[in-house]
Amino acid sequence: MEYLSDRIKALSVSQTLAMAQKSRELKAKGLDIISLSLGEPDFDTPDYIKEAAKKAIDDNYSKYPPVPGYNDLRDAISRKFMNENGIKYSADQIIVSAGGKHSLINVILSIINPGDEVIILAPYWVSYYDQIILAGGKPVVVEALLDNDFKVRPEQLEEVITPSTRLLIFNSPSNPTGMVYTRDEMESIARVIEKHEGLFVMSDEIYEHIIFEGEHVSMASFPFIYDRVITVNGVSKGYAMTGWRIGYIGAPLWIAKACNKLQGQFTSGVCSIAQRAALAAIEGDDGSRKLMKEAFLRRRDLICSLLGEIPGIKLRIPQGAFYVMPDISFYLGKSDGGKNIGNSDDLAMYLLEKAQVAVVGGDAFGAPNCIRISYANSDHLLVEAVKRIKSALTLLDGK
Ligand code: PMP
Repeated sequence: MEYLSDRIKALSVSQTLAMAQKSRELKAKGLDIISLSLGEPDFDTPDYIKEAAKKAIDDNYSKYPPVPGYNDLRDAISRKFMNENGIKYSADQIIVSAGGKHSLINVILSIINPGDEVIILAPYWVSYYDQIILAGGKPVVVEALLDNDFKVRPEQLEEVITPSTRLLIFNSPSNPTGMVYTRDEMESIARVIEKHEGLFVMSDEIYEHIIFEGEHVSMASFPFIYDRVITVNGVSKGYAMTGWRIGYIGAPLWIAKACNKLQGQFTSGVCSIAQRAALAAIEGDDGSRKLMKEAFLRRRDLICSLLGEIPGIKLRIPQGAFYVMPDISFYLGKSDGGKNIGNSDDLAMYLLEKAQVAVVGGDAFGAPNCIRISYANSDHLLVEAVKRIKSALTLLDGK
């Protein structure tokens, strides 16, 4: 007999991780799977960062680190916020956690009471939804349509804000769409927030370094809402350090203190070696970030032009991150003579089985007409993957 809590029963399994797991299993069986499902750079962590971690081991960074992170790391993050984002966060407003995902849940658990409403903008990153559920909050989904470049308009926010709305989760550059909000667009959203006292924004800026057009703007840099913004960031994406698990927040002091308290009972301070590596990452620059960005840009252009040749696919060209989210509704309701493609998850499964390409169905992102493709893969595999996707899709004939 199993006695699972209602809390865990209400939680769904991360679709992106599930798809990655499924494709790993098929790969292990010897199938030639091309994985475009997972959100991580395909590059190795730069050498200067790895050296810092090796040195940390030799220097005996083996004791419990302080719960909110090493002081010198928090100082370095504080300087980073000032230099790169124009935001003033003192070191005590910064909490280092085991990845951005951990930072997000810390904040949600710190400020969301059961029944509080949290606005998320679809297509949204999968974990936002379930993290809100875990805290007993109520996700309120606002749809940002492909026709509006997957961006939400301020009026749409106004329409859903109630006295119970506590938080908006904002993400630019966006996973899954790759869209980047302009300064003006962000300011108009910030003005809506300003009007509603007691409404906070959690700005997930984890892709800030992977941006091809325009500039990255931090929500907290609008002074009139500074004390209502929690900025979330981390080293996973920008420095190819997904496995090191370091994320952080800059936040009003009372929120930082709450996260510190929570972390003190949950994780304690996060991995000492990874923190030293993150310090090196943030303080140094060996040019690899620029090289990675150039590679992602080249691949974006490549995959978007190839996808654009597939009949029925609608696309917006992403300006950042390493995802593209084509609308595949043209193929829904069709079949290959055997299997009916009822929804985007069916299509993702069909592509995995027929084309041996792993992508993620849009349902989990609140985008049932779309699939998410990660182009953090080599150029030649991207070409091969789209070739296979195209021929699998042409087998769907509507019968
Ligand atoms: N936010 C977004 C939008 C993401 O895509 C991810 C990773 N997929 C994260 C946060 C969390 O990243 P990590 O926990 O690796 O820092």
